[in-house]
Amino acid sequence: MESKVSPQYIQTSLAASLTLGFQQGAFHRNAKLKGLNLLLHYDEGCMGSCHFCGLSRSRRESPKGKTFIRVAWPIYSLEEIIERAIGKDQIHRVCISMITHPRALEDTLYVIRRFKEETALYISVLITPTLIRNEDALKAMKQAGADRVGIAIDAATPELFDRLRGKGVGGPHRWDHYWDIVEKSANVFGRFYVGIHLIVGLGETEREMVEAIQRGQKMGAYTHLFSFFPEKGSPMEDHSLPPLDQYRRIQLSRWIINEGLGSFDRMKFDENGRVIDFGVDINPLIEIGEPFMTSGCPGRDGKVACNRPYGNERPSGPIRNFPFRPEPEDIEEIKRQLESWKNGILE
Ligand code: SF4
Repeated sequence: MESKVSPQYIQTSLAASLTLGFQQGAFHRNAKLKGLNLLLHYDEGCMGSCHFCGLSRSRRESPKGKTFIRVAWPIYSLEEIIERAIGKDQIHRVCISMITHPRALEDTLYVIRRFKEETALYISVLITPTLIRNEDALKAMKQAGADRVGIAIDAATPELFDRLRGKGVGGPHRWDHYWDIVEKSANVFGRFYVGIHLIVGLGETEREMVEAIQRGQKMGAYTHLFSFFPEKGSPMEDHSLPPLDQYRRIQLSRWIINEGLGSFDRMKFDENGRVIDFGVDINPLIEIGEPFMTSGCPGRDGKVACNRPYGNERPSGPIRNFPFRPEPEDIEEIKRQLESWKNGILE
């Protein structure tokens, strides 16, 4: 039997599969997906060994049983995905995730071109810096039709990166090279046409996370925030989720930095690295609710298209990244979560 591999076949997020009608179902609280997340697929899987990732080589299950950011990623033909995406007004953007595989760069270019020629969608690429040596590959992606790139730095400090993604796990990724590619991407795509992914809860302090967000901002990269979720079968399956109050403070800090309202230098941290002063009045920011929405590449309306409904938590909640604007009762809940550590209640 012919094996279903990229570029002719590609994995979609479960949310994309539902939105394109490959599977039946609706999202909790009627969340609407605006960005299609796709993932290259090869029989050999990803050559990375990232400790927290569902695609990691070191995971116990076979590539077919793997999940990536918490949910299963079903495989469909690229032809059919494009056909179904055409005319779906709800979708603004497609994102092609490379994985660490020798064919990924060439196949990514092929998939970008197909979407550019056959759809009107904006195109992001979640690139694998390890496969990119210079600006030529980035220029080729831009020329093929991508308007934005994302870089999954994931771990906020060089030590954590090395321990969880690099030498510590016999993996190929290197911290300095990742940041070098952030810089090169900003040169090629333009400042703030680049986004970095950071995962809260891998063992960093809040101070370290905020510092990484600020570093990205200086280089012209927005931060797209994720909350660690233990992938079953991955070496970190028993590692706990970051407390909600921690995640909320980081969401606020990210918003303040990315919106240019403040900076790391103006924030204050306690002896455990927790944010104790954001340097600006956070009350109006909490009321608007946007800081707690999913952060990701924008769509036609300038608002986040990559809203990844329930990519980070169980739909039963509590919601960490809101795929829609939080309702007044959500805001009240968020306030309680932010207050909880002060009251000594850790959720
Ligand atoms: S934020 Fe979303 S669309 Fe942008 S690079 Fe990351 S996964 Fe892709």
